[in-house]
Amino acid sequence: MAENKWVYSFGDGKAEGTAEMKNLLGGKGANLAEMSNIGLPVPPGFTITTEVCTAFYENDRQYPDGLTAQVEAALDAIGKSVGMNFGEKENPLLVSVRSGARASMPGMMDTVLNLGLNDETVEGLAKRSGDERFAYDSYRRFIQMYCDVVLGVEHYNFEEILEYYKEEQEYDLDTELTADDWKDVIARYKARVDEELGKPFPQDVTEQLWGAIDAVFGSWRNRRADTYRRLHNIPESWGTAVNVQAMVFGNMGDSSATGVAFTRNPATGEKAVYGEFLVNAQGEDVVAGIRTPQSLSKAARIAGGDKKPSMEEEMPDAYAELVDVFGKLEAHYREMQDVEFTVQEGKLWMLQTRSGKRTAKAALKIAVEMVGEGLIDERMAITRVEPGALDQLLHPTLDPEADREILTKGLPASPGAASGEVVFNSDEAAKLKQDGHDVILVRVETSPEDINGMHSAVGILTSRGGMTSHAAVVARGMGRPCVSGAGALRIDYQAETLTVAGETVKKGEIITIDGGTGEVMKGRVPTLQPELSGDFATLMEWADTHRRMKVRTNAETPTDAKTARKFGAEGIGLCRTEHMFFEANRITHVRQMILAKDEAGRREPLSKILPVQRDDFRQLFEIMHGLPVTIRLLDPPLHEFLPKTDEEIAEVAEDTGMPAADLRRRLMELAEANPMLGHRGCRLGITFPEIYEMQARAIFEGALEAGKATGEHVIPEIMVPLVAMKAELDFLKARIVAVAEEVSKEHGAEIEYHVGTMIELPRAALMAGEIAETAEFFSFGTNDLTQTTFGISRDDAATFINDYLQKNLIAQDPFVSLDRDGVGELVKIAAERGRATRDGIKLGICGEHGGDPSSIYFCEDVGLDYVSCSPYRVPIARLAAAQAALAKET
Ligand code: PEP
Ligand code: MG
Repeated sequence: MAENKWVYSFGDGKAEGTAEMKNLLGGKGANLAEMSNIGLPVPPGFTITTEVCTAFYENDRQYPDGLTAQVEAALDAIGKSVGMNFGEKENPLLVSVRSGARASMPGMMDTVLNLGLNDETVEGLAKRSGDERFAYDSYRRFIQMYCDVVLGVEHYNFEEILEYYKEEQEYDLDTELTADDWKDVIARYKARVDEELGKPFPQDVTEQLWGAIDAVFGSWRNRRADTYRRLHNIPESWGTAVNVQAMVFGNMGDSSATGVAFTRNPATGEKAVYGEFLVNAQGEDVVAGIRTPQSLSKAARIAGGDKKPSMEEEMPDAYAELVDVFGKLEAHYREMQDVEFTVQEGKLWMLQTRSGKRTAKAALKIAVEMVGEGLIDERMAITRVEPGALDQLLHPTLDPEADREILTKGLPASPGAASGEVVFNSDEAAKLKQDGHDVILVRVETSPEDINGMHSAVGILTSRGGMTSHAAVVARGMGRPCVSGAGALRIDYQAETLTVAGETVKKGEIITIDGGTGEVMKGRVPTLQPELSGDFATLMEWADTHRRMKVRTNAETPTDAKTARKFGAEGIGLCRTEHMFFEANRITHVRQMILAKDEAGRREPLSKILPVQRDDFRQLFEIMHGLPVTIRLLDPPLHEFLPKTDEEIAEVAEDTGMPAADLRRRLMELAEANPMLGHRGCRLGITFPEIYEMQARAIFEGALEAGKATGEHVIPEIMVPLVAMKAELDFLKARIVAVAEEVSKEHGAEIEYHVGTMIELPRAALMAGEIAETAEFFSFGTNDLTQTTFGISRDDAATFINDYLQKNLIAQDPFVSLDRDGVGELVKIAAERGRATRDGIKLGICGEHGGDPSSIYFCEDVGLDYVSCSPYRVPIARLAAAQAALAKET
């Protein structure tokens, strides 16, 4: 049997690996191989594979057979290539040893530079370079790094010695130390190592090399790496590779340098060399930020007002070569690259390349421009922009340059940034808005009663509630920035203050919230307005030609519906009618209806609500201009409309003309232990059919009016919430049909409409086959379906879901990203059974997951007809739906 191959060499214009071998060689190793293959100047080296890492851990930290011999052979080959030998006194080869996992884990694992130096080879290096100071400086850096990474003697030991030495000699800067000074410092370093470890610093270069390799493999399971992996969902089983590479020196005098660069501007996407470099420095000096780096291009230097010359001016030949390498890299990878390079005595060397991280704005520009340049096609461009990142472009954002004083952090419930006066009460928010104030509504949690206040506020902050709490869902729907569940906040409604970390903010004082990060700040932080650039529109058009699923919106106000249309919504997938009940001209009637003791008592206020609802629906139908509109009949528990505090009770008693004592008695009767699982959804329609009848009439009449106004044929979709049984839907559909017939007769007009249901209870999913005999369409209400499948209250989840995430029990919050295994299985079952009964039954999703890219992929897999999401997520959903369709093709 052939021996396993554990080691892959690269350099000299060829390599044993390729870019495709990332799993085996890690990201860095695979790209070093690829750069070698395409003839770029890469210092020769080799990669020890991730399989060795796996074997190492499976085998009680023993290396597999054959590894030592393969490493030795590869090291010899490097030596031959550069004409030096590892450990040879006269002409020593020095190497770097670095980790390189499959997925980039910046700064998470360890690196050793200048390995191969000892008391003898340092002299060889001095002679060869003709620079004794450089050689001893390199040696002391190596001792420091090796001790820290491999031997566990921490940095501060050496910093202390160096600082003391500089004081002794009255030096300010490291650059003032001569070769002899460094020799003295090295002697002190070595003495400290002896003291700390009870043995000398290793002089045997082979021992040094294996020590470093052990340390890199060992670092795969250090705490830093463990945490990073958990946060980024990187499996431990992947392992890391180790890259050993001939050293090149950016610190060999003024014709040497080291730098980092992007092939395009990662902030704006502009096609221009972007990055910085340091003359006479080694890689870690750039990162350490001790010296201020210089610009690469002359244009960037002038734009930045730098005094020091750019690389273009100071090292024109190396710069020209770097620009040429950028062209080759982009032509080859067809992607913007992030590189590290070193110039050693005028010669350019490439040390790393990978695809560069970028802002959403840059991602759009780069994707669209690369299509124009013929580097990629439209389909590829669509996959290049992360849908979730578009959020950055759809809301005001904090000026990144601005100072900020952070008070606390909650959940990033609805993106965007806003500053305003703190107000603790929704009515007051509405009043202040009318007087032209910007306010931030601060509540422990919000309820449907706060809708008006939320609408009036520029931002919402709550101390309780998760990502699908009322505040979060409504704020996202309205496109209002929201931070929810900021548990450290103490809100005192009486005193009208919020207190956090010893700071108290009073009503009327200004705070700023960033709903994209969850941060809450004191005072006003300047924001930048969203800009929908041409590239954005172009990419959206391409996405539209490649997606199969339609994208609708969840909207109930004309403003939201218009916003959604502007963002490309193809109809309304969910109109939550209860949100329409809170405006000042209707809430009293709604309350009278709920508080009434009998049907007659309810019919009276209902007749007042009817014309207002009809007008709401007419407007929505008109804005949607013939596109499908799904209207959901009343859903929430009725107590949400009722007063709670004494003050509110007194107010309602006055408004409705009901004696306060009677009102209190009725409130007691209506109280429920578990309202979310109580008298809500279609159960209300069963108990009070007249409510749904009024709503159905308002829908039909609104549709007829809108049809006349727009000349479009309006076909409303009436949706019944929280159905568990076919019998419920049969009962209610019969009444809706009867209303349709009445309205049709009264108006002498045919009415076309569909009656369907939400699938938001496990029983409904399981019984979907039967329910589809009555339901003409299904819309998956995955907020409630998640709540009822897990048995986790969506309003209380935030208090403990974080523990599940931190303790690695779940990868994602199931209220944010659909749980494919459990909830997803129910969706699949319902889709299958529904289709079996009613061929081609229209299927959609209107839970919050309808705007979550990863859940949208799932919807494509299940073959849903559309997703529906809040207006501001419509562009995200359009892009994600296109990506999902393209992913399915390949
Ligand atoms: C759902 O449950 O997913 C849904 C869309 O309805 P709501 O959020 O209004 O309960
Ligand atoms: Mg629901």
